[in-house]
Amino acid sequence: MVAMDTVRLYNTGTRQMEAIAPGQPDGLLRIYCCGPTVYHYAHIGNFRTFLIQDVLRRLLLAMGYRVRFIRNITDVDDKTIRGAQGEHISLGAFTRRWTDIFHGDCDALNILRPDGEPKATEHIAEQIAMVEALIRKGHAYVTSDGSVYFRLSSYPAYGKLSGVDVGQLAPQANDNDGAVNLADEYGRDSVHDFALWKAHKEEDGDIFWESPWGKGRPGWHIECSAMSMKYLGETIDLHGGGIDLCFPHHENEIAQAECVTGKPFVRHWFHSEHLQVEGQKMSKSLGNLLTLLDLKGKGYTSEAVRYALLSGHYRQILNFTFSGLDAAQSALHKLRAKVVHLRGTVGWSATDRSTAAPDATDYPPSQTEIIPQKIAAYRHFAAAIEALKNDLNIPKCLGEIFSILNRTAAADRQFFEELRSIFFILGIEIFSDTGTSQGQSVPDDVAKLAAQRWEAKQNKNFAEADRLRQVLAGKGWDVVDGKGGYDLERNNR
Ligand code: AMP
Ligand code: ZN
Repeated sequence: MVAMDTVRLYNTGTRQMEAIAPGQPDGLLRIYCCGPTVYHYAHIGNFRTFLIQDVLRRLLLAMGYRVRFIRNITDVDDKTIRGAQGEHISLGAFTRRWTDIFHGDCDALNILRPDGEPKATEHIAEQIAMVEALIRKGHAYVTSDGSVYFRLSSYPAYGKLSGVDVGQLAPQANDNDGAVNLADEYGRDSVHDFALWKAHKEEDGDIFWESPWGKGRPGWHIECSAMSMKYLGETIDLHGGGIDLCFPHHENEIAQAECVTGKPFVRHWFHSEHLQVEGQKMSKSLGNLLTLLDLKGKGYTSEAVRYALLSGHYRQILNFTFSGLDAAQSALHKLRAKVVHLRGTVGWSATDRSTAAPDATDYPPSQTEIIPQKIAAYRHFAAAIEALKNDLNIPKCLGEIFSILNRTAAADRQFFEELRSIFFILGIEIFSDTGTSQGQSVPDDVAKLAAQRWEAKQNKNFAEADRLRQVLAGKGWDVVDGKGGYDLERNNR
């Protein structure tokens, strides 16, 4: 039998390296990742996790897997409710704003949008149905205040993912902010039991939903079990999240789902380690909680942030430092300079694309199609792709790319196809086919003016070429002429 071209990853569930493969005959790889709680800017630690998941997804797509990728939005919990109340606006208006900001950051970081992004508040009925099923099957009970709890003692397999000893457990917090659970007074059977449905409290004001147990809202954990089941079915192939979610969130997700279906919930658990800042855990109280906005405000590009956040292995803590971010910025410059140089060796320039026939625009390839064609066999970048296929070793992949680029004197078509595929996976627009040396997209009018200027220069109409250079500079773009073409760079003037 020929070995399938697969990605191998460490499975937190089995504590082994395993090949990633779809579990169902339809060949679709079903992936669910826990998404953000939308009450504030996501911090760069959150983005480390989302970026790692993005590279994994891109790798699978580039290798020809068919992937369905779902990442949820947690838009109801203590923090979102307090936030909305603090601003005297509806929960929906509050979480919509933070969701939009999250999307803006994801786009800037070139994180592909998920195939589905379900919101907790839009799936209340599904969550209630799941809680009802758990009650019916004897895994949950209603307390006198109208809350519903999962009975941990009804599920002896609890703890198998994280290895926690239920006997040693501290009382389970009631929410995803780790707040101490005060619900014991309402008759919770055991302090280890966790909330599936939370009865309405005065302080939640008008934020509640009707349920068979009265007014209330879902507990945090149930949304992921209910929504992953709705969009991906009873058993999913891969479930991702930061390592902090392993316990209790993912243990609780498993308990809820497996007690309802009687089937395995997740085949492969993919957890990424945390990000620290200058050697310390990121936290509000230490004042070292960084957002993309903070870093952009200091003059760094989103692309450099992406590169820096991806520069460590996902199973190791990454220490974010400003010197690391500077190094990322200069690594990107070096990569681009090398690619520009190699483009020169085949006489290709950005301008070729505007004049070439549509079917001849692909050398070197553009970034216009989102997923590059699967490469049957990597000739030049085999070591770089192997590093990714072997437990998503991004730092090793980057190292291989540098050494391949350093030792390559001239490139051929296959070289550029592989290069394109690798940088699609990393999410870095290395060709910047519209001509920018910083991977920023060039507005249409600027691209047009630049093309007119190049044409004028080719026709030796230097006065017109100079005039158009001035116009472009006024619009914020410098033209850098090369041998066979030109590049555009932001001039920040
Ligand atoms: P949250 O919005 O808190 O639910 O977190 C969203 C995602 O970010 C989850 O997968 C968390 O595990 C992850 N996460 C939270 N803090 C960090 C951190 N410091 N480093 C990496 N990932 C994190
Ligand atoms: Zn989750």
